[in-house]
Amino acid sequence: MSEPIDLVVLGAGPGGYTAAFRAADLGLRVALVERDATLGGTCLNIGCIPSKTLLHAAKLITDAQEATRFGITFERPRIDLAALRDATAEVVGTLTTGLASLAASRKIEVVHGVGTFTSPTTLRVDAAQGSRELTFAHAIIAAGSRPVMLPGFPDDPRVMDSTGALALSEVPERLLVIGGGIIGLEMATVYDALGSRVTVVEMADQLIPGCDRDLLAPLQRRIRARYEAIHLGTRVADLSARDDGLHVSYDGANAPGPAVFDRALVAVGRRANGDRIGAEAAGIRVDERGVIAVDERLTTNVAHIHAIGDITGNPMLAHRASHQGAVAAEAIAGIAGATFDARSIPAVAYTDPEIAWTGLTTTEAAAREIPIETATIPWAASGRALSMGRTDGRTTLIVEPETHRVLGAGIVGTGAGELIGEVAHAIEMGADAQDLSLSVHPHPTLSETVMLAAQAAEGTVTDLYLGGRRR
Ligand code: FAD
Repeated sequence: MSEPIDLVVLGAGPGGYTAAFRAADLGLRVALVERDATLGGTCLNIGCIPSKTLLHAAKLITDAQEATRFGITFERPRIDLAALRDATAEVVGTLTTGLASLAASRKIEVVHGVGTFTSPTTLRVDAAQGSRELTFAHAIIAAGSRPVMLPGFPDDPRVMDSTGALALSEVPERLLVIGGGIIGLEMATVYDALGSRVTVVEMADQLIPGCDRDLLAPLQRRIRARYEAIHLGTRVADLSARDDGLHVSYDGANAPGPAVFDRALVAVGRRANGDRIGAEAAGIRVDERGVIAVDERLTTNVAHIHAIGDITGNPMLAHRASHQGAVAAEAIAGIAGATFDARSIPAVAYTDPEIAWTGLTTTEAAAREIPIETATIPWAASGRALSMGRTDGRTTLIVEPETHRVLGAGIVGTGAGELIGEVAHAIEMGADAQDLSLSVHPHPTLSETVMLAAQAAEGTVTDLYLGGRRR
């Protein structure tokens, strides 16, 4: 048995490495256990970073296609898939090797292997070269989540999960994306730009279930024009892999007839990994979805074991995981105020146009009968959006009626993900619409649409006529 260590962190994704780094900075002796060869977890290796690299490449293609409006015509792009894969791998490699050197600088012991709890104070790590047991005073579980595969689907390389889709082994002529959530639609954006004819099938009656419908409209308009088909309220009843392709039949009130695809991406959600870490040996409660419940200091039902990130359930987002990671490390180091009490966690679909929201949504306000006022600026009123030829956007601010305190925002449009941070900050600071409207924003920028929406909430916008006399 090894010497007891102050803190063992299980999993080196954005949650785990942030926790390990923060704990080491606070003076704790830390071991970081990771089954993969590289640090960074889903986000850096098979999630946020490779997908955003491919989405950037996709945007180059579609921007070039649409440059004709400015009198510029490019030839059809020649796409070297191997070079695109290499470029993506290089970005990922830069980040993951950077993490390894940051861990080394902090004297964190990185232990590669699969970690399994064997008691409330021990974790066995199994690697090809043998097993080893770590004894710890505290642990942080940051073992993440995995894609859900649909039962009964064939085990065939043409039926991909998000990792398979990111591997970009080919550009299929016809791609079926099963699941119209954020991950499915982002990969649809990539393959559409690369030249696939894309069909999206979603069981719910809207894309990105949970997202405010008015935010979806501009995205839906654009992708309906580009994609082969979008089937809402429809599920795949059967998918069989044959030599000539994947034969698919559908269920649902408006279900189309059977169709054949060259590849399918299954993007129907992710499942927390709580069922795969030997939690029972440590006495940690895990629910039937693999989720570990935590309090605001990220403590599980076992006082010296914390959990963070995807394994603690929704929203499964990298920035939530990393913020929780820092809080858990601080809580273990004894910092009194260390609690995860974020007032809003932004969500972004990096589609084209992007959709971003934070805080209260209009859907949630209606469901919970919370009184709100909303103020919307269509991007046709933005000089910057016009100059980019991308007026297919809108910025909506959601405020408390009495005080005009900012409660939430929904933004759709190119670069919406870059804009939502300002509103997340406003919500965290308890700002009201006037605070945003009186903050001088640079002109001409899309960020002005946040300021203009705040002006609209206050009753007067220079660039729009709202009618009547306003205060
Ligand atoms: P993970 O990043 O999943 O890390 C968990 C780590 O634990 C992994 O490295 C795993 O190998 C390791 N592990 C698990 N079990 C064990 C074990 N028993 N022993 C040892 N190691 C173990 N989020 C965003 O915020 N923005 C995005 O743009 C975004 N895009 C995404 C795109 C895709 C295609 C996908 C799949 C996800 C995306 N996400 C995005 C989600 C994001 O990747 C996750 O929310 C985030 O990675 C969660 O961090 P985590 O630290 O909780 O877990």
